[in-house]
Amino acid sequence: MGIHSWFSQLSMRQRFWLFGTIAIIIIIVGFGFLVKPAGEPEDVGSFSVEMSIRDIASTLNVTGKALAREFKLPLDISKQKPLKTLGVAPEELQHVTEHLLSHHDSMLKYYVYAALVLGGLVFLVRLGRPDLSDVKHRREWYPRTPYIVSLMLSVIVAGFLLGKSPNPMESVVKVFKSMVGLYPDPIAKAIALLFFIILAVIGNKIICGWACPFGSLQELVYSVPILRRIKQRKLPFLLTNTIRAGLFTAMLLLLFGIIGGRKGTVIYHYINPFNLFDLDFETVSILLTVILALLGAFIVYRPFCQFICPFGFISWLIERFSIIRVRIDKDKCTECGACIKACPLEAAKGLVYSKRLPADCYSCARCLNVCPVDAIQYSSVFKKGKINRSSLP
Ligand code: SF4
Ligand code: SF4
Repeated sequence: MGIHSWFSQLSMRQRFWLFGTIAIIIIIVGFGFLVKPAGEPEDVGSFSVEMSIRDIASTLNVTGKALAREFKLPLDISKQKPLKTLGVAPEELQHVTEHLLSHHDSMLKYYVYAALVLGGLVFLVRLGRPDLSDVKHRREWYPRTPYIVSLMLSVIVAGFLLGKSPNPMESVVKVFKSMVGLYPDPIAKAIALLFFIILAVIGNKIICGWACPFGSLQELVYSVPILRRIKQRKLPFLLTNTIRAGLFTAMLLLLFGIIGGRKGTVIYHYINPFNLFDLDFETVSILLTVILALLGAFIVYRPFCQFICPFGFISWLIERFSIIRVRIDKDKCTECGACIKACPLEAAKGLVYSKRLPADCYSCARCLNVCPVDAIQYSSVFKKGKINRSSLP
């Protein structure tokens, strides 16, 4: 349905929600602008090989060990000696400082994430289904345009305009890196991860579904209406999740030196697609990851999220505690399979058949306008009504 037709069927109360939410989103982002730290980030030109690791590590928000590692020096090397006496060339210094400065978090981006998540939640819970429309017209519910607009804002603003950091994936990795001394402030890293986890718990993985820039980019590619037959084939969740969990375990074992015997190796560093948003492909493997994920997204739903992303894995683990989510009224559900067919993953199937560990649900809304008996809704677990108990904690 056209966006005009959807809008015309919104009740006055829903229009109030719509314009009120837009106003709050503007206020959140405007506030983010106002409170963002003053001053420009450090310029690469302000560093020189006359300086020591100790002189520049804190400015780059890393520990001396982490900086030594970036220069491929032994972790226990003297941190007081000038870099040139350690054999660091000016070009290498420039490359490393550019790379580390790209990891600096844009504080404004946290506000943008919160705003995008708020917009997604209000659409899913209150606006997608017009009050003046009945179930016969369910196909007209949840138009794709607001979702596409949100995805584009995520890619453009939370991605290319504000750069790669912070992002949900790196928030996981940085917590563990800080535990082995590669970042100076473990508590700040834990708080950043907590921010993303809280958003994922409020709305079922909605930070992934509506706000993560690389997730959004994959979603946009997948939404291109081509190769529909191939898209109908879903990957077995057991396979994708086993690979994703295996990578996460391997990351921990390598990072803590349990295998490999050397602490500090981060495999995600070599396959971090968020580098795309800084147009900084440090290694060929990063470029390959971006290309494969985006080409793959034409036929597979969010391949990077399904196979690799550590935040994807962690947010799947905590989905059971999500407050607002897809819920199925088991008394109404006839198990006709309409939502299972509409879902790009095995998530709806898991909900319909009450699987204990259903696949990730990205709150994409594809299942919300297909149920012929109106048994599916996106709502809070505290809302009354019989629902799929397996989706509750
Ligand atoms: S799972 Fe996908 S959407 Fe979620 S943080 Fe990772 S890349 Fe982003
Ligand atoms: S279609 Fe699947 S992934 Fe999308 S909201 Fe429904 S259950 Fe979740």
